[in-house]
Amino acid sequence: MGGANGRKRIIILGGGCGGVVAATNLGRLLGARHEVILVDRRSHHVFMPAFLFVMVGRRQPEDISRSLSHLAKRNVKVIQDEVVGIDPVRQEVTLRKEKIGYDYLITALGLQTRPDLVPGFAEASLHPWEMETAVRLHKALTAFEGGRVVVGIPLGPYRCPPAPYEATWMLDGYFTQRGIRERVEIEFFTREPEPTGEAHDPVVWMDAESKRRNIKQNYEFVVRSIDPERKAVTGLYGYKLSYDLLVMVPPHRPAQVLLDSGLADAETGIRVDYNTLKTKWNNVYAIGDCADMPASKAGGVAHQEADVLAHNLAVEITGRGQPVNLWLHTI
Ligand SMILES: Cc1cc2nc3c(=O)[nH]c(=O)nc-3n(C[C@H](O)[C@H](O)[C@H](O)COP(=O)(O)OP(=O)(O)OC[C@H]3O[C@@H](n4cnc5c(N)ncnc54)[C@H](O)[C@@H]3O)c2cc1C
Repeated sequence: MGGANGRKRIIILGGGCGGVVAATNLGRLLGARHEVILVDRRSHHVFMPAFLFVMVGRRQPEDISRSLSHLAKRNVKVIQDEVVGIDPVRQEVTLRKEKIGYDYLITALGLQTRPDLVPGFAEASLHPWEMETAVRLHKALTAFEGGRVVVGIPLGPYRCPPAPYEATWMLDGYFTQRGIRERVEIEFFTREPEPTGEAHDPVVWMDAESKRRNIKQNYEFVVRSIDPERKAVTGLYGYKLSYDLLVMVPPHRPAQVLLDSGLADAETGIRVDYNTLKTKWNNVYAIGDCADMPASKAGGVAHQEADVLAHNLAVEITGRGQPVNLWLHTI
């Protein structure tokens, strides 16, 4: 690659929190002198933190989606297509409809949900970790008149570690507002041990807040399978939790194309240098949920990483300014 007059092509895979910020910044910093391309299978950016509000009917899907075509104003070309292959040696990306070479590649493909990894999950759980299931969960909630609602976490990484707690609190508020809270038991399970320590420690505080809201906590509960007929979740050592409505987080894994192309070799994503987000391949970087960083899988993290990487790439390409190291502000 490397076009006439030193023109560089930067391809960003994924138009989620990390990809949109990286593309916006690079388009602004590089202008039309270089080529910034963003690829996503969707035509729209979807703001996933608001799935919790879709769950309780306070947002509609269209309120939390924005067309990626707005990026054209920032000198970013958007291609709506599926990424099916990445060849970091040839510096080439394969889409369903075409192959494109790059000078720099930023992978921001997030995580994919894998309901198939827990037997019974797909039939049993309605959850706000995808738009479609958040909409179905809202419908189920409006028909719910009382019983046991169980919210829980599987093994492995997932988007936004505190969100399951927020989900239980929002359900508490939702049922209170409907005037049926005393007819609903809300129960929570997690693979984590019971938190101990100072009251201001976030996990200790979240535990206390849940208890204050009369939400029962089950710690060290490792899900093995779900029986949708009997409405029961089975954990390690035969522990069981029965439910009337199950709101369990699906297992998450790196995007299939990252596993197939060998870029992601860990459950938690692509190995990167913690300061620079460089991978072991030349000119290939990873940001957001698909990067194996010692940080939460969170939009706020993806945003900070995108800011730093866009700055550093612009410095490298234009020769102006100084590169900076990543310094994450997160819990
Ligand atoms: C219920 C919930 C609540 C949350 N709350 C918060 C919060 O309060 N604060 C916070 O910071 N974070 C929160 N998050 C997490 C946050 O949404 C994610 O961490 C963030 O979106 C990750 O950004 P990303 O750019 O890495 O990936 P994503 O936003 O997942 O974007 C990945 C993009 O890649 C595209 N893609 C994937 N594979 C392909 C392919 N093969 N071909 C083409 N396109 C592909 C997808 O369509 C998607 O647009 C929450 C998430 C959920 C689900």
